[in-house]
Amino acid sequence: MSANGKVKPNAVVVKGFERSFPVGHYELRSYSGSKTVWTKVKGNATDALAALNQKKRRVDALVEAKAVDLEVVTDVKRVTIRDARSGYKEAAIARGALESAQVVDNAVAEFQLTCNKVYVDQITREDMTKFQAAMRKRGLADRTLYNRHGNFRSFMLFAGMDADVVCGPAPRYEEQSVEIFEDSDLKPLFASLTTEYDRLLFGVFLACGLREQEAMHLEWRSINWTAKTLRVQSNPRYDFKVKDAEQRDVPVPADLLNRLKAYRETHPTPKLIFGKRGGRDDAPDGHLLRRLKGLARSAELSCGECEGCAGRNKECGFWYLHRFRATFITRLLRSGVDIRTVMKLSGHSDLESIMRYLRPSEDSSVQLAVNNLPSYL
Ligand SMILES: [Zn+2]
Repeated sequence: MSANGKVKPNAVVVKGFERSFPVGHYELRSYSGSKTVWTKVKGNATDALAALNQKKRRVDALVEAKAVDLEVVTDVKRVTIRDARSGYKEAAIARGALESAQVVDNAVAEFQLTCNKVYVDQITREDMTKFQAAMRKRGLADRTLYNRHGNFRSFMLFAGMDADVVCGPAPRYEEQSVEIFEDSDLKPLFASLTTEYDRLLFGVFLACGLREQEAMHLEWRSINWTAKTLRVQSNPRYDFKVKDAEQRDVPVPADLLNRLKAYRETHPTPKLIFGKRGGRDDAPDGHLLRRLKGLARSAELSCGECEGCAGRNKECGFWYLHRFRATFITRLLRSGVDIRTVMKLSGHSDLESIMRYLRPSEDSSVQLAVNNLPSYL
């Protein structure tokens, strides 16, 4: 310890001589009866000194209490939310559950924004209610609230708490049914398109099931003309990232591939396939949705009844980009492609999201299938 009462960092005293010793950690020495107990301290010299002072005060308090015949129950097992959070993350990573490590960590981080308690055992049902209310206020979807509740529950279980009592039941949410385009929607839309750019844009959305951001950042070099696939991947040039599970190679139908090839021959310079201003510019186009709605309106395909149609811009709520992706996934499932492959082709890492697409079929194929069942009449 130096003259000013602080612990000198990275220094040790060996046989009365000070030496520099940058690696190592601090331990507190105390005595339990005749036994010497060493307790490892997390952090640097300042933390170690703080821990030492804390320990001294505790010992003083115990002595004081004993003098007036008070029994003190010391609970050394209390866990801070912070330690439990990093503990959960480490444990999940160690067992290879990277997604769980991430989502649980996010949920606890979100919880900590609404609750400044220190120890896990201080968390009450009221804190959970506040947590839920804050997320709702932020406009998070019911499904997200439900997921975060489950994630936080896993965290509490990990921390050894009675999760059922503290967390309570999960918030309810109505699973929104997945909306898709039917043939009767798509045929008139594609028939109305007047530019090859638009045919290719919505053709790729439909045939490859891309997310909006994925289409915006799609480059020509992502197409493998020989393998007839399209690679959905991060694009560092635009700071666009896809998660590990979302990177994928999607087969491109022959007809679409040929048309893309022909288009490329007449547009040889841009890097982006669907860049701004009809693919002549290498800036991502953030208005693809508006483009779809505008085209649907021009083709008189707006529903005319929804809130969007009633609005100033007359942008119909029926037409949105994600609906192409939902159509893609639903079609794959209905054509009997196995769920693992559908997960891979759509860049979904969890089964639950895919299951949402497994809804009862409403088209004539059901009638056909039912008619083909043996009736023995
Ligand atoms: Zn509408």
